[in-house]
Amino acid sequence: MRYRTLGNTGLQVSEIGFGTIPILSGNVPVLPDYYSPDLPEAVDIMMHAFKMGCNFYDTAIPEEYGDAEYKLGVFAEKVGRERIIISDKARFADGNDIFREVLRSAETLGTNPDIYFVHQVDEKNQDETFSRYGALDALCDLKKAGVIRYTGIATHYYSVAARAAADSRVDVIQTSGNILERGIMDRIAENDLFRGKGLILNKVYAAGCLLSVFQPSELIGGILHYPFSCALIGIGTKEQADAAMQTEFQPQTFSFAEVTSRLAEHFQPIPCTRCQHCTCPRGYEVHILLRQYNYYHLGKHYWAMKKLRLNIAEVFEQCRRCTERPCMHGCPQNLRIPELIGMIYEMTR
Ligand code: SF4
Ligand code: SF4
Repeated sequence: MRYRTLGNTGLQVSEIGFGTIPILSGNVPVLPDYYSPDLPEAVDIMMHAFKMGCNFYDTAIPEEYGDAEYKLGVFAEKVGRERIIISDKARFADGNDIFREVLRSAETLGTNPDIYFVHQVDEKNQDETFSRYGALDALCDLKKAGVIRYTGIATHYYSVAARAAADSRVDVIQTSGNILERGIMDRIAENDLFRGKGLILNKVYAAGCLLSVFQPSELIGGILHYPFSCALIGIGTKEQADAAMQTEFQPQTFSFAEVTSRLAEHFQPIPCTRCQHCTCPRGYEVHILLRQYNYYHLGKHYWAMKKLRLNIAEVFEQCRRCTERPCMHGCPQNLRIPELIGMIYEMTR
């Protein structure tokens, strides 16, 4: 295992981190297929990863990750608290709410988390999160009080990550990307604003989807040249830990065309990088709809269809009437977005 410095925190983190979603038990709708190991088994899996050099473990409050937070706390005590770095998160934009959740997390873990993220910050809740007395201010107060060591923002949106990068209160930014959905990673790599921030990457396997076409060595090797310190991989079995951590993968550079042509051996992918340059005045998140199409064809049939059916008929109708089509103007892939929306709508009927 190699280690990297986590921005200005100075923490030395393993290049591959342990994402705890797959070790949760309970009826938590994070993903439709998780493994549900019991406590001893979950602790054993985390220990297995630790023995391969993993020192970064990421979790979230029970409403989001079930009992994973508790299991991680048991593991931390067993392995020796000071030997691992714990990052935790909660989805609250209000300062009072997140203050309460951090204290509750410390109680559930049985120890203070090192890094605490405001989770799922998006374009709707970001103003409250970053406002005076919002969640970020509360994390700063908790940092001053010594309850946490570092503050974080976790987001799937480049605009939010860039706002966090420009904010001196933020120590660590967690965002998502993989060799297919590389748009945010590319934009972060090009923007000096992010230098000095701790950067953590999740969704390296695209919620497991990309494993149907690519090897872990390719998915991990393909993101190692990006300026992230730690790539979180969801681990639910020892075999999965082995696949991600046993070998020190070499960085590989896949062009986007290479990735889409590999996918094209199985289905015709929509070549969207999720760069999020497409803005729709109606607020439709084009990149999410295009992603669901690809995920559907990569095996997430039920999950993708369920999400698409929430609003695809409405988006399709509005796109048909949209004459200016501003979403297309900024798309570096020159995608004909309304036509793609029409194709996806037909798929869902
Ligand atoms: S549709 Fe185009 S602009 Fe929008 S996320 Fe995909 S590649 Fe980027
Ligand atoms: S075509 Fe118009 S309504 Fe449809 S996503 Fe683009 S900007 Fe929005």
